[in-house]
Amino acid sequence: MDSNVEGIEQSVSTGTLPGWEQVDARVIASLERNRACTDGAVADYIPVLAQADPELFGVCVVEVDGGLHVAGDSEVEFSIQSISKAFVYALVCEEYGHAAVADMVGVNNTGLAFNSVIAIELNEGHPMNPMVNAGALATTALMPGAAPDEQWAAIQAGLSAFAGRDLVLDEEVYQSEAATNTRNRAIARLLESYGRINRDPLEVVDLYTKQCSLLVSARDLAIMGATLADGGVNPVTGERVVSADVCRDTLAILAANGLYERSGEWLFEIGLPGKSGVSGGLLTISPGKAGIGTFSPRLDPAGNSVRGQQATAYLSRVLGLNIFASQAVASSQNRGS
Ligand code: GLN
Repeated sequence: MDSNVEGIEQSVSTGTLPGWEQVDARVIASLERNRACTDGAVADYIPVLAQADPELFGVCVVEVDGGLHVAGDSEVEFSIQSISKAFVYALVCEEYGHAAVADMVGVNNTGLAFNSVIAIELNEGHPMNPMVNAGALATTALMPGAAPDEQWAAIQAGLSAFAGRDLVLDEEVYQSEAATNTRNRAIARLLESYGRINRDPLEVVDLYTKQCSLLVSARDLAIMGATLADGGVNPVTGERVVSADVCRDTLAILAANGLYERSGEWLFEIGLPGKSGVSGGLLTISPGKAGIGTFSPRLDPAGNSVRGQQATAYLSRVLGLNIFASQAVASSQNRGS
């Protein structure tokens, strides 16, 4: 698409959150009102994930000034899984820019499951977007670095900068997924056959499996999200991680694809860019305001945390975060009469 916007002056629309105490109380309420829900099931296609405690539930909101609100198990660590896709995309976009990554990986929703093979075939080998496995593998392959070790170091450092602390790999999760990820290997081979991966496909799968095995908490996710909400500057460390343009592009891709084939429902209910992972993490970004991180391992059939979605839907409403919501300009003088 030629949007014909090169060189125009940009402005940014933001707002503010309600006061500190109100946000604090509502973060706690988002957990309390959804705690009893037992809908959904813990992922088990990666064997070690089946051992997760389904009762764990944590919510964290980090404001763009670094202010932090926590409730429940917000410090419990779990593997980041697909949520890593958002940040690896941002790092790759920082390197290659808006147009190049859109062209190489794509931005449109597949309407199909995150690990769909038929989506690749239906689109003549195009991986479609960086939030499904095909597009994530193509994106990870683009990470700068002469060899996989260098690429891995850049991924680990990059995601750590988003979190504001050194993130470490969960060896057990990595080994469990590496032993069973035949489907991802098939997807990488298929992409290779279409000329969409220019590195060794199995090395790319290995790198991707490692990025999915990095340990985070709901609190980490909220800080990582707040960095995307804050034009690319980590509000806790003050470090610039990526450019504001990269944040804007990342959030657009999350809005369209972050919850896979449920992305439309998510946008309809929550009205914010978000990204889910199969270990039960959920990341949501309120641009210019805050990052929200939740953790609850029971998933809906598309692989999205059930209670995470409920808690975020509540917060979106009570904190006034939905980007599609507006109010009529009330005063008549504003209408020129
Ligand atoms: N590592 C997982 C996979 O590739 C991530 C999937 C997810 O979180 N949706 O299958």
